[in-house]
Amino acid sequence: MNIDDLNFKVNFENKVKETIEKYKLIDKGERVLVACSGGKDSISVLYLLNKFGYNPEALIIDLEIGDYSKKNLENVKFFCNEHNIKLYIVSFKDIYNYSLCYICSVLKSKYNLNPCYVCGILKRHILNKKALELKFDKLATGHNMDDEAQNIFMNYIQGNLLLSAKLGPITGITKDEKFVPRIKPLYFCSDEDVRKYSQIMKFPVLYEKCPCSVGVFRREIKEIFKHIEKEIPNFKENLIRNLMKISPILKEEYLKKTKEMRYCEICHQPSENKICKSCELMEKLKDIC
Ligand code: SF4
Ligand code: ZN
Repeated sequence: MNIDDLNFKVNFENKVKETIEKYKLIDKGERVLVACSGGKDSISVLYLLNKFGYNPEALIIDLEIGDYSKKNLENVKFFCNEHNIKLYIVSFKDIYNYSLCYICSVLKSKYNLNPCYVCGILKRHILNKKALELKFDKLATGHNMDDEAQNIFMNYIQGNLLLSAKLGPITGITKDEKFVPRIKPLYFCSDEDVRKYSQIMKFPVLYEKCPCSVGVFRREIKEIFKHIEKEIPNFKENLIRNLMKISPILKEEYLKKTKEMRYCEICHQPSENKICKSCELMEKLKDIC
Protein backbone atom coordinates (compact mmCIF):
# COMPACT_ATOMS: atom_id res chain seq x y z
CA MET A 1 0.00 0.00 0.00
CA ASN A 2 1.48 3.40 -0.92
CA ILE A 3 1.70 6.27 1.57
CA ASP A 4 -1.33 8.14 0.14
CA ASP A 5 -3.50 5.06 0.40
CA LEU A 6 -2.26 4.39 3.89
CA ASN A 7 -3.13 7.96 4.98
CA PHE A 8 -6.53 7.66 3.37
CA LYS A 9 -7.17 4.33 5.09
CA VAL A 10 -6.22 5.68 8.53
CA ASN A 11 -8.41 8.81 8.10
CA PHE A 12 -11.35 6.77 6.83
CA GLU A 13 -11.16 4.32 9.71
CA ASN A 14 -10.84 7.15 12.25
CA LYS A 15 -13.90 8.85 10.81
CA VAL A 16 -16.00 5.70 11.20
CA LYS A 17 -14.70 5.12 14.73
CA GLU A 18 -15.51 8.71 15.67
CA THR A 19 -19.04 8.38 14.30
CA ILE A 20 -19.65 5.22 16.33
CA GLU A 21 -18.32 6.82 19.51
CA LYS A 22 -19.73 10.35 19.13
CA TYR A 23 -23.26 9.16 18.38
CA LYS A 24 -23.07 6.23 20.82
CA LEU A 25 -24.11 3.80 18.12
CA ILE A 26 -23.06 0.73 20.12
CA ASP A 27 -23.16 0.44 23.90
CA LYS A 28 -20.77 -1.80 25.80
CA GLY A 29 -21.71 -5.47 25.56
CA GLU A 30 -24.37 -4.95 22.87
CA ARG A 31 -24.74 -7.59 20.16
CA VAL A 32 -24.55 -6.18 16.64
CA LEU A 33 -25.83 -7.77 13.47
CA VAL A 34 -24.56 -6.36 10.17
CA ALA A 35 -27.01 -6.48 7.27
CA CYS A 36 -24.81 -7.53 4.35
CA SER A 37 -25.74 -7.15 0.71
CA GLY A 38 -22.41 -8.21 -0.74
CA GLY A 39 -21.66 -4.61 -1.70
CA LYS A 40 -18.73 -2.39 -0.69
CA ASP A 41 -20.61 -0.51 2.04
CA SER A 42 -21.87 -3.34 4.22
CA ILE A 43 -18.62 -5.31 3.89
CA SER A 44 -16.67 -2.21 4.99
CA VAL A 45 -18.97 -1.86 8.02
CA LEU A 46 -18.57 -5.54 8.88
CA TYR A 47 -14.80 -5.37 8.54
CA LEU A 48 -14.50 -2.22 10.66
CA LEU A 49 -16.83 -3.31 13.46
CA ASN A 50 -14.83 -6.51 13.64
CA LYS A 51 -11.54 -4.61 13.61
CA PHE A 52 -12.77 -2.25 16.37
CA GLY A 53 -13.62 -5.23 18.57
CA TYR A 54 -17.43 -5.16 18.52
CA ASN A 55 -17.62 -8.85 17.53
CA PRO A 56 -20.34 -8.36 14.91
CA GLU A 57 -22.25 -11.18 13.27
CA ALA A 58 -23.58 -10.93 9.72
CA LEU A 59 -26.81 -11.65 7.90
CA ILE A 60 -27.43 -11.73 4.17
CA ILE A 61 -30.83 -11.98 2.53
CA ASP A 62 -30.54 -14.12 -0.57
CA LEU A 63 -32.61 -12.05 -3.00
CA GLU A 64 -32.20 -14.70 -5.70
CA ILE A 65 -31.61 -12.18 -8.47
CA GLY A 66 -29.74 -14.66 -10.70
CA ASP A 67 -25.93 -14.48 -10.91
CA TYR A 68 -25.92 -11.12 -9.13
CA SER A 69 -27.20 -12.68 -5.89
CA LYS A 70 -25.11 -15.84 -6.31
CA LYS A 71 -21.92 -13.81 -6.54
CA ASN A 72 -22.88 -11.61 -3.58
CA LEU A 73 -23.65 -14.65 -1.47
CA GLU A 74 -20.36 -16.30 -2.42
CA ASN A 75 -18.40 -13.13 -1.57
CA VAL A 76 -20.04 -12.65 1.82
CA LYS A 77 -19.53 -16.32 2.73
CA PHE A 78 -15.88 -16.09 1.72
CA PHE A 79 -15.35 -12.87 3.68
CA CYS A 80 -17.03 -14.14 6.86
CA ASN A 81 -15.09 -17.36 6.65
CA GLU A 82 -11.80 -15.50 6.26
CA HIS A 83 -12.54 -13.23 9.23
CA ASN A 84 -14.18 -15.85 11.38
CA ILE A 85 -17.51 -14.02 11.53
CA LYS A 86 -20.76 -15.90 12.07
CA LEU A 87 -23.07 -15.56 9.07
CA TYR A 88 -26.84 -16.09 8.83
CA ILE A 89 -28.36 -16.62 5.39
CA VAL A 90 -32.05 -15.92 4.88
CA SER A 91 -33.90 -16.78 1.69
CA PHE A 92 -36.22 -14.03 0.49
CA LYS A 93 -38.34 -16.54 -1.42
CA ASP A 94 -38.83 -18.73 1.67
CA ILE A 95 -40.34 -15.79 3.50
CA TYR A 96 -42.39 -14.15 0.75
CA ASN A 97 -43.02 -17.16 -1.55
CA TYR A 98 -42.05 -15.17 -4.65
CA SER A 99 -38.74 -13.79 -5.89
CA LEU A 100 -37.98 -10.13 -5.28
CA CYS A 101 -37.93 -9.32 -9.01
CA TYR A 102 -41.34 -10.94 -9.52
CA ILE A 103 -42.91 -9.00 -6.62
CA CYS A 104 -41.33 -5.75 -7.82
CA SER A 105 -42.42 -6.20 -11.43
CA VAL A 106 -46.03 -7.09 -10.51
CA LEU A 107 -46.38 -4.17 -8.09
CA LYS A 108 -44.73 -1.83 -10.59
CA SER A 109 -47.09 -2.74 -13.42
CA LYS A 110 -50.27 -2.72 -11.32
CA TYR A 111 -49.59 0.10 -8.82
CA ASN A 112 -46.59 1.84 -10.38
CA LEU A 113 -44.57 1.23 -7.21
CA ASN A 114 -40.84 1.86 -7.39
CA PRO A 115 -38.83 -1.43 -7.10
CA CYS A 116 -36.43 -0.03 -4.51
CA TYR A 117 -39.36 1.26 -2.43
CA VAL A 118 -40.90 -2.24 -2.41
CA CYS A 119 -37.58 -3.98 -1.84
CA GLY A 120 -36.62 -1.58 0.97
CA ILE A 121 -39.84 -2.24 2.88
CA LEU A 122 -39.62 -6.01 2.51
CA LYS A 123 -35.94 -6.19 3.42
CA ARG A 124 -36.39 -3.95 6.48
CA HIS A 125 -39.19 -6.23 7.59
CA ILE A 126 -37.02 -9.36 7.32
CA LEU A 127 -34.05 -7.69 8.99
CA ASN A 128 -36.00 -6.47 12.00
CA LYS A 129 -37.73 -9.83 12.38
CA LYS A 130 -34.47 -11.81 12.22
CA ALA A 131 -32.49 -9.40 14.41
CA LEU A 132 -35.24 -9.68 17.01
CA GLU A 133 -35.45 -13.47 16.80
CA LEU A 134 -31.68 -13.76 17.13
CA LYS A 135 -31.70 -11.31 20.08
CA PHE A 136 -29.41 -8.63 18.64
CA ASP A 137 -29.39 -5.15 20.20
CA LYS A 138 -28.41 -3.21 17.07
CA LEU A 139 -28.67 -3.73 13.35
CA ALA A 140 -25.84 -2.09 11.39
CA THR A 141 -26.34 -1.15 7.76
CA GLY A 142 -23.98 0.12 5.06
CA HIS A 143 -25.86 3.37 4.41
CA ASN A 144 -23.37 6.08 3.54
CA MET A 145 -23.50 9.87 3.27
CA ASP A 146 -24.74 9.78 -0.35
CA ASP A 147 -27.66 7.46 0.52
CA GLU A 148 -28.66 9.68 3.41
CA ALA A 149 -28.36 12.93 1.42
CA GLN A 150 -30.53 11.39 -1.32
CA ASN A 151 -33.16 10.40 1.26
CA ILE A 152 -33.23 13.91 2.73
CA PHE A 153 -33.47 15.49 -0.73
CA MET A 154 -36.21 13.11 -1.92
CA ASN A 155 -38.27 13.57 1.25
CA TYR A 156 -37.98 17.32 0.81
CA ILE A 157 -38.95 17.56 -2.86
CA GLN A 158 -41.75 15.02 -2.43
CA GLY A 159 -43.25 17.11 0.38
CA ASN A 160 -42.42 14.54 3.06
CA LEU A 161 -39.99 16.60 5.15
CA LEU A 162 -41.33 15.09 8.36
CA LEU A 163 -40.22 11.63 7.22
CA SER A 164 -36.63 12.81 7.62
CA ALA A 165 -37.25 12.71 11.38
CA LYS A 166 -36.58 8.99 11.05
CA LEU A 167 -33.12 9.55 9.54
CA GLY A 168 -29.79 10.02 11.30
CA PRO A 169 -26.79 7.87 12.34
CA ILE A 170 -29.18 5.87 14.51
CA THR A 171 -32.78 5.37 13.46
CA GLY A 172 -35.99 5.18 15.42
CA ILE A 173 -37.95 7.95 17.08
CA THR A 174 -39.50 5.98 19.90
CA LYS A 175 -38.11 2.93 21.65
CA ASP A 176 -40.00 -0.28 21.22
CA GLU A 177 -39.02 -3.72 22.43
CA LYS A 178 -39.95 -5.18 19.05
CA PHE A 179 -37.88 -2.74 17.07
CA VAL A 180 -34.12 -3.27 16.73
CA PRO A 181 -32.48 0.17 16.23
CA ARG A 182 -30.56 0.50 12.98
CA ILE A 183 -27.14 2.16 13.03
CA LYS A 184 -25.18 3.67 10.15
CA PRO A 185 -21.43 3.75 10.92
CA LEU A 186 -20.68 5.15 7.41
CA TYR A 187 -22.99 8.13 7.95
CA PHE A 188 -20.27 10.71 7.26
CA CYS A 189 -18.41 8.75 4.54
CA SER A 190 -19.13 9.56 0.90
CA ASP A 191 -19.90 6.82 -1.58
CA GLU A 192 -16.68 7.62 -3.43
CA ASP A 193 -14.60 7.25 -0.25
CA VAL A 194 -16.22 3.93 0.68
CA ARG A 195 -15.46 2.66 -2.83
CA LYS A 196 -11.85 3.78 -2.56
CA TYR A 197 -11.50 2.20 0.89
CA SER A 198 -12.94 -1.14 -0.21
CA GLN A 199 -10.66 -1.13 -3.27
CA ILE A 200 -7.56 -0.34 -1.20
CA MET A 201 -8.56 -3.13 1.19
CA LYS A 202 -9.19 -5.47 -1.77
CA PHE A 203 -12.53 -6.59 -0.35
CA PRO A 204 -14.26 -9.28 -2.41
CA VAL A 205 -17.29 -7.23 -3.48
CA LEU A 206 -19.38 -6.59 -6.58
CA TYR A 207 -19.37 -3.01 -7.84
CA GLU A 208 -22.10 -3.50 -10.43
CA LYS A 209 -25.62 -2.15 -9.99
CA CYS A 210 -28.50 -4.31 -8.86
CA PRO A 211 -30.43 -5.41 -11.98
CA CYS A 212 -33.78 -4.81 -10.20
CA SER A 213 -33.10 -1.12 -9.71
CA VAL A 214 -33.68 -0.15 -13.37
CA GLY A 215 -35.57 3.12 -13.85
CA VAL A 216 -35.66 4.13 -10.22
CA PHE A 217 -35.93 7.79 -9.25
CA ARG A 218 -32.85 7.61 -7.02
CA ARG A 219 -30.64 7.23 -10.09
CA GLU A 220 -31.95 10.52 -11.45
CA ILE A 221 -31.28 12.17 -8.10
CA LYS A 222 -27.68 10.93 -8.28
CA GLU A 223 -27.28 12.70 -11.62
CA ILE A 224 -28.75 15.93 -10.21
CA PHE A 225 -26.31 15.68 -7.28
CA LYS A 226 -23.36 15.42 -9.67
CA HIS A 227 -24.36 18.75 -11.23
CA ILE A 228 -24.89 20.50 -7.89
CA GLU A 229 -21.59 19.20 -6.53
CA LYS A 230 -19.69 20.92 -9.33
CA GLU A 231 -20.84 24.23 -7.80
CA ILE A 232 -21.06 23.25 -4.12
CA PRO A 233 -18.60 20.42 -3.36
CA ASN A 234 -19.82 20.03 0.26
CA PHE A 235 -23.43 19.88 -0.78
CA LYS A 236 -24.18 16.37 0.57
CA GLU A 237 -22.44 16.96 3.86
CA ASN A 238 -24.29 20.28 4.23
CA LEU A 239 -27.58 18.45 3.69
CA ILE A 240 -26.95 15.89 6.41
CA ARG A 241 -25.40 18.36 8.88
CA ASN A 242 -28.38 20.69 8.46
CA LEU A 243 -30.78 17.79 8.97
CA MET A 244 -29.03 16.94 12.21
CA LYS A 245 -29.53 20.53 13.43
CA ILE A 246 -33.29 20.43 12.85
CA SER A 247 -33.72 16.77 13.72
CA PRO A 248 -34.92 17.30 17.34
CA ILE A 249 -37.69 19.65 16.09
CA LEU A 250 -38.66 17.22 13.32
CA LYS A 251 -38.81 14.33 15.78
CA GLU A 252 -41.06 16.32 18.10
CA GLU A 253 -43.38 17.28 15.24
CA TYR A 254 -43.40 13.73 13.90
CA LEU A 255 -44.44 12.36 17.27
CA LYS A 256 -47.27 14.91 17.54
CA LYS A 257 -48.59 14.14 14.08
CA THR A 258 -48.24 10.37 13.90
CA LYS A 259 -50.40 7.81 15.54
CA GLU A 260 -49.15 5.80 18.45
CA MET A 261 -46.88 2.89 17.59
CA ARG A 262 -48.79 -0.35 17.61
CA TYR A 263 -48.28 -3.85 16.25
CA CYS A 264 -49.34 -5.13 12.84
CA GLU A 265 -52.45 -7.30 13.06
CA ILE A 266 -50.93 -9.79 10.62
CA CYS A 267 -47.22 -10.13 11.48
CA HIS A 268 -47.16 -8.44 14.94
CA GLN A 269 -44.14 -6.31 14.07
CA PRO A 270 -44.14 -2.60 15.11
CA SER A 271 -46.32 -0.50 12.83
CA GLU A 272 -47.93 2.94 12.81
CA ASN A 273 -51.02 1.47 11.18
CA LYS A 274 -53.22 -1.56 11.76
CA ILE A 275 -51.35 -3.38 9.01
CA CYS A 276 -47.62 -2.77 8.46
CA LYS A 277 -46.27 -1.68 5.09
CA SER A 278 -44.78 -5.08 4.33
CA CYS A 279 -48.07 -6.93 4.96
CA GLU A 280 -49.90 -4.22 3.03
CA LEU A 281 -47.69 -4.90 -0.02
CA MET A 282 -48.25 -8.65 0.31
CA GLU A 283 -52.02 -8.10 0.52
CA LYS A 284 -51.81 -6.07 -2.69
CA LEU A 285 -49.91 -8.92 -4.30
CA LYS A 286 -52.50 -11.48 -3.15
CA ASP A 287 -55.20 -9.47 -4.96
CA ILE A 288 -53.26 -9.75 -8.21
CA CYS A 289 -51.76 -13.25 -8.09
FE1 SF4 B 1 -33.44 -3.73 -3.65
FE2 SF4 B 1 -33.20 -1.51 -5.10
FE3 SF4 B 1 -31.19 -2.37 -3.55
FE4 SF4 B 1 -31.82 -3.75 -5.74
S1 SF4 B 1 -31.03 -1.63 -5.66
S2 SF4 B 1 -31.38 -4.60 -3.74
S3 SF4 B 1 -34.05 -3.44 -5.79
S4 SF4 B 1 -33.20 -1.62 -2.87
ZN1 ZN C 1 -47.20 -6.90 9.15
